[in-house]
Amino acid sequence: MTVPAQAQADLRLEDDGRVPFADLRPMHDEIASEIDDAWKRLRTTGRFIGGPAVERFEQEWASYCGVQHAVGVANGTDALVLALRALGIGPGDEVIVPANTFIATAEAVVLAGAIPVFVDVHPESLLLTATIVDAAVTERTAAVMVVHLYGHMPDMEALVATARRHRLALVEDAAQAHGSSYAGKRAGSFGDVACFSFYPGKNLGAFGDGGAVVTNDDALARELRCMADHGRTEGTKYEHRLVGTNSRLDALQACVLSAKLMRLDAWTAGRRMIVDVYRDQLALGGLRLVEPLADVMSAWHLLVSRVEDRETVRTVLGLRGVEDRKSVV
Ligand SMILES: *Cc1c(COP(=O)(O)O)cnc(C)c1O
Repeated sequence: MTVPAQAQADLRLEDDGRVPFADLRPMHDEIASEIDDAWKRLRTTGRFIGGPAVERFEQEWASYCGVQHAVGVANGTDALVLALRALGIGPGDEVIVPANTFIATAEAVVLAGAIPVFVDVHPESLLLTATIVDAAVTERTAAVMVVHLYGHMPDMEALVATARRHRLALVEDAAQAHGSSYAGKRAGSFGDVACFSFYPGKNLGAFGDGGAVVTNDDALARELRCMADHGRTEGTKYEHRLVGTNSRLDALQACVLSAKLMRLDAWTAGRRMIVDVYRDQLALGGLRLVEPLADVMSAWHLLVSRVEDRETVRTVLGLRGVEDRKSVV
């Protein structure tokens, strides 16, 4: 069996014996000539904003996620803010947010002018459940942000049903779940809208910042596209029908993402192989890994373990050259 680049990257020791938290170099070596060619083409055509490279990646990403539309934006945080704004969520609205997520999930709610309502998660999965959401709904609740933390996904069938029953918008924060699936359906295809980040360290990462919003809703996709481009009326240069923002995916990044997307499933398979190795070995040490639900194929953005005394374990690993997240891009 050939070990994919991602697997090689994660298993390799540096010359000085350090174990890097993540090393993107082998993946980037694999796509180097494609990127060089694509960037050379861009340099000669000059289509840096929008244009065929961005359109191509948007189509590829929508089809990969199993949805109708993907709108490229500047980063994952903008994707979340734009998704909320396009749904009409703003001042006076409450949005349910899991308490254990990267700050951007809640930050986006505040930036949209709404109120984040933090809820606890299931103690085993560390994810939302329908029961938890049910208990947090008030008259002012407008939406729920479902975060696929570490690449794991909660029971989406139950969450979609709960959101429908309460007439809430369901926004997936899929920034850690490129290619994850629940019951065979990809992350990003369950919510009214779903948001991705292409920050370099994510499973699908650009050579800088990038993001996307995906949806099956034609009108919402049009609204998102308009908002991300200064509220510009489609096909015009200086007609603006609303106050939007400048949040676009660069063509340079779209080329990188298209090249990586062709390999994403192989790289994810590599991650799964590594998880299997760790699971076997770590079972001996009494660590408890945070595992996905039975119906979930996780993209394993992170492999997280619970330990009794986190700081001690961290210090001991550090002394042995095992780097932690702080050193990540
Ligand atoms: C990375 C991340 C974001 C934000 O994405 P950026 O591209 O860094 O703005 C949002 N939510 C989660 C869960 C993330 O991991």
